[in-house]
Amino acid sequence: MPSHKKAALKTFLLVLTLLIRVAGQTTPPDAAKILALTNGNWFDGHSFKHRPVYIVHGFFSFRKPARVDESIDLKDAFVVPPFGEAHNHNVESSPKIDSLIQRYLQHGIFYVKNPDNLPSSRLTILPKLNQPASIDVMFSNGGFTGKDGHPADVVKRNIDRGTWTAAAGDGAFYYVVSNEAELEQKWPQFLSTKPDFVKTYLLFSEDYARRKDDPQYFGWKGLHPALLKIVVQKAHAAGLRVSTHVESAADFHNALVAGVDEINHMPGFRIEGDVTPHKITDFEIAESDARLAARRRVYVVTTLAGSSPPATPDSLTERDQINRRNLALLKKYRVKLALGSDSYRSDTVPEALYLASLGVFDSAELLQMWCDSTAKTIFPRRKIGKLKDGYEASLLVLKSNPLQDFSAVQQISVRIKQGQILQVDSDQKP
Ligand SMILES: [Zn+2]
Repeated sequence: MPSHKKAALKTFLLVLTLLIRVAGQTTPPDAAKILALTNGNWFDGHSFKHRPVYIVHGFFSFRKPARVDESIDLKDAFVVPPFGEAHNHNVESSPKIDSLIQRYLQHGIFYVKNPDNLPSSRLTILPKLNQPASIDVMFSNGGFTGKDGHPADVVKRNIDRGTWTAAAGDGAFYYVVSNEAELEQKWPQFLSTKPDFVKTYLLFSEDYARRKDDPQYFGWKGLHPALLKIVVQKAHAAGLRVSTHVESAADFHNALVAGVDEINHMPGFRIEGDVTPHKITDFEIAESDARLAARRRVYVVTTLAGSSPPATPDSLTERDQINRRNLALLKKYRVKLALGSDSYRSDTVPEALYLASLGVFDSAELLQMWCDSTAKTIFPRRKIGKLKDGYEASLLVLKSNPLQDFSAVQQISVRIKQGQILQVDSDQKP
């Protein structure tokens, strides 16, 4: 062989060896292994079934593969899909981001939706997210509201504290749109931030005209409901789903009529927050709206726990009662419910326990909502939220049966995400 051909062959072989080595290094060890999980009780959305399940290249297989590399005995423990958090603003650039991610994983929460964030803050932390050993997060970037509407009050508070500057306002954390022309003008800049979905705000929209120019309602107003409909059309044309913040039962109705995909909060989540007091009936969801929400397959994200401790059947507050009434109505019409906390220092664990304490749902229904519906409204296109053949191999192993005692959801012994067994730091308090 001529020497130049020998040299070319040598180079080719060297490159090939390097490629093989790089490929070997980038494949995580767990993901390459074919695992058999034996003696587990697997949640199917209603009950637990004792059966073996396999993990092949990061996905569940209910059929025995030709080869098994490792077998793990689950010793009759209970397997559920990971939990979700469909409303939290705490996934943002902060010195505590690493411990926050660890706390989410420790609590079994793998999927998070942030329905309003600074786009710059998201870009800073993105390299830490959306990979097997971390949480997966969807961001709306800035939300659409009216002049002096919510969340301008949040931005003002952060500027007053010195944590944010004026640059965080209109065009960043929110977009003020009072009419269609203003929406047309601001929409391209919003899209350029590459949002995962669109966040919009309705606050007592039945009272829009009266609040619009009244400074005492700063932070307690939002979009004109007719303009919301146009935002929805533009978002859908761009392939983006729309979430809408609501306060009153009228907002709930207006959001549905505008064609939104997800409603954030339930009427009654803060009955004493507004500038002017309300009758409790202002927060009662109409039966016709529950029916409409079901027909339109709209997700409703709860955010009801707040700081209140779990209710007990004989000490229901006015808030607990309105929450029970509205939840029972949504359940009656099979509206899709997802769990969100909107609690910056916490997550959906207290939300799930609060909902359990209201007694509207049994434990299987709550698990289905927390694991499946919540994951679906965060990542609608992924095969997650169920322990099913062909779905992403992500799961939690619980020591005891959560259908007998729901607090078992807090005793997680093993976490697997996308086929990888997670090593999670304990005692993370961000
Ligand atoms: Zn929020």
